[in-house]
Amino acid sequence: MPQKTKETPMMEQYLEYKKQYPDAFLLYRVGDFYEMFYDDAVKGSQILELTLTSRNKKADEGIPMCGVPHHAIEGYIDTLVDKGYKVAVCDQLENPADAQGKMVKRGVTRVVTPGTIMDKSDQAKENNYITAITAKKDVFGLAYADLSTGEVKVTTVDSQLDLTNELQNLDTKETVVSGSFPQKYLDQLRKYGILISKLDELDNNYSFDFSQISRDNEVSTVKLLISYLIKTQMRSLDHLKPAQSYETSAYLLMDHSAQSNLELFKNIRTNKKSGTLLWLLDETKTAMGSRLLKQWLARPLISVEKLQQRQHLVQVFLDNYFQRSTFQDYLTKVYDLERLAGRVAYGTVNGRDLIQLKTSLEQIPEIKSILLDIGDDELTAYVEKIDEVQDIRELIDKAIVEEAPISITGGGLIKEGYNDQLDKYLDASKNGKQWLASLKAKEQELTGINNLKIGYNKVFGYYIEVSHANVDKVPEDRYQRKQTLVNAERYITPELKEKESLILEAEEKSKSLEYHLFDQIRKKIKDQIRRIQALANIVSRLDVLQSFAVVSEEYHYVSPEFVEKHQLNITNGRHPVVEKVLSNNSYIPNDVNFDDKTDILLITGPNMSGKSTYMRQMALTVIMAQIGCFVPADSAKLPIFDHIFTRIGAADDLISGDSTFMVEMREANDALKNATPNSLIIFDEIGRGTATYDGMALAQAIIEYIDKNVKAMTLFSTHYHELTELEEQLPGLKNVHVDASEENGDLVFLHKVLPGPADKSYGIHVAKLAGLPNDVLTRATKILSSLEETSVHTTTSDSIHETIQEPIEVVSQPEEITVDDEAQLSLFPEVDKKVKKLSNKESQ
Ligand code: ADP
Repeated sequence: MPQKTKETPMMEQYLEYKKQYPDAFLLYRVGDFYEMFYDDAVKGSQILELTLTSRNKKADEGIPMCGVPHHAIEGYIDTLVDKGYKVAVCDQLENPADAQGKMVKRGVTRVVTPGTIMDKSDQAKENNYITAITAKKDVFGLAYADLSTGEVKVTTVDSQLDLTNELQNLDTKETVVSGSFPQKYLDQLRKYGILISKLDELDNNYSFDFSQISRDNEVSTVKLLISYLIKTQMRSLDHLKPAQSYETSAYLLMDHSAQSNLELFKNIRTNKKSGTLLWLLDETKTAMGSRLLKQWLARPLISVEKLQQRQHLVQVFLDNYFQRSTFQDYLTKVYDLERLAGRVAYGTVNGRDLIQLKTSLEQIPEIKSILLDIGDDELTAYVEKIDEVQDIRELIDKAIVEEAPISITGGGLIKEGYNDQLDKYLDASKNGKQWLASLKAKEQELTGINNLKIGYNKVFGYYIEVSHANVDKVPEDRYQRKQTLVNAERYITPELKEKESLILEAEEKSKSLEYHLFDQIRKKIKDQIRRIQALANIVSRLDVLQSFAVVSEEYHYVSPEFVEKHQLNITNGRHPVVEKVLSNNSYIPNDVNFDDKTDILLITGPNMSGKSTYMRQMALTVIMAQIGCFVPADSAKLPIFDHIFTRIGAADDLISGDSTFMVEMREANDALKNATPNSLIIFDEIGRGTATYDGMALAQAIIEYIDKNVKAMTLFSTHYHELTELEEQLPGLKNVHVDASEENGDLVFLHKVLPGPADKSYGIHVAKLAGLPNDVLTRATKILSSLEETSVHTTTSDSIHETIQEPIEVVSQPEEITVDDEAQLSLFPEVDKKVKKLSNKESQ
């Protein structure tokens, strides 16, 4: 750390700012560079691959330093923020020449953080959410905002698990907490790579619409979030929409591991969008639509009424191919209205953005008329609500030139005829240019120099240029030499200089007037931001619904029917993504049936036969149905589910560092505790993470518990064939198996799900398919047959009893108990008692 006595005034100023932003890289403008010092420099030079030097002013000797050229700063900021760091940019607020030997005035002009970074075009299809959390005992307020689209939402969750889930589902990169937020929760969040930003003081100097939130904790959470945004953004946040409160229970709940296991957004193997449900469903034409689709998928609905509205509109789009495809054509010309509105509010909008806004608004009357043309009452009612915002289109049309430049300070932005004063300036500079052309002609004639030219440079303005060959013809009395080049001489004349100041003045004034006018236009648009956002909302909804129609048509999906009973019938269902990926219609469709007495389908069958695909197929069908899309089946009747729980292998929780088995048990526990009869549970080979017997014991106990206490619809796949015997005891359990057959000792997968248990597990056949050496296969076959011989007399229940140390609730097959067995069982008194009770019941 620096010694107090040693600092130069500049370093003193630096440290002053650094103190205000201790958790950010401070990029401090010095001349043409942004410099970092001390630890920032050491760390920054590594991350950004910059050369680390040290200050060579005597007093500052030894201070580590590195810098980036000012024009390249954006790329470096992006790199730091992408890696999860914050950056504070400290600029020079006055021209160093005006500082007259004193310290140049500086100030932090913006803070860029992972949760607030904007304008990265590659992210347009995703929301970037910054979150804030508050805690009161174990109740948490959670608010989130997307700075580029202006969305602000808040909710209350009552457990740390739900909080982590929600944060993970939002895929937030940064969360804001107050200084007093309990440390124990923070450590957990950091594990998930979420940057924690602490804010101690709330800012109350702003107006923000809290009217739609009623809970106090939610208001304070939003206040925390907004205060942080004000502190970091240092500019208008007028585009933020009124905060809306939501209940997580108003949606079909899926915790983060379910979302990730079911590959809704990310392919587990590649971490990319390709191969996911989002990838399959996304035929949207706008970035706004794509973002909304993702939001719908993350929060499927539970309201039949709302779902039926969506289904109806999908059907309308399916039935009206011509209007749909015309609508799509117009949609492709609609730019990202939400983000454009954000840039208008933010003050970062330029002429090109406004032309994009205009082009988008131009499509709206067309869109409206083509959709009204369909003549569907519900669609018409919806479309008639559209405010076309044509006043803004007209304003931009009148004011902004079509090929607007990116810069808003260099002129060439405002159309002729928009402003009288500007027209005059433009005229003057245009006339000036004509005057220069005629001056050139006149001088050529007077001097007889045909290649005499008139040019301009920044150093001495307009000049007359004459090649060396002609210098003897130059009228020395009128021309004053200014510059000698290799093959030419440059001159000025008093007449030229006089006109020059008029031309330049007009140009200067017109540029600043253009900037001023642009700013006025921007403000006028800013006043209408809510209307643009409302329009964006309707357009993106319609975009998602047409996307559903496209996908449903292409893959022959059907509209699902929602039933109020505990019943589910899917005929010829398919896994939508596997079906798409498999070539030439080779996907084998399968039925899924739960009647009002069935809770559990116990699925057996060899590895690779399709058990896991079958279970995922059902979960994805449920999700598609509950976002209002059609589903991959010939017909589908299903209830509304409130929660999907999954335990599917593969996605081990590497982050938390727990073992596979631990994660497996935790997920099972979550389902058993929280599932209701309206939930869906998918358990893929529960228990395989531990030794066979305790694995099997746990699997059986879990099945029994679901059957008795939970009664959620459950798909349970297993390799423990012994469990299939449970069908006889548990009325709610049905065996199904995925068919495979043996041809000449080779295994053939039929992928067909049939009633009843599988007869064999075919493990060795699968090993053969994988190409294991023959010796291993022959030996395994031998071992297997000897094992089968010795175990022929043992039953599931016996096996479990032999290994269980702790008494747990195990249901045995009572009729098999003999006096001898009783004597043996007395080692486990608790189990013993239960079995006795059960067998008494059975015999009554
Ligand atoms: P299991 O869970 O039984 O080990 P999977 O569900 O992982 O098997 O299926 C293995 C492979 O079989 C899948 O990757 C898929 O390509 C194929 N498959 C599964 N179900 C079907 C089906 N119904 N039709 C066609 N191919 C299927």
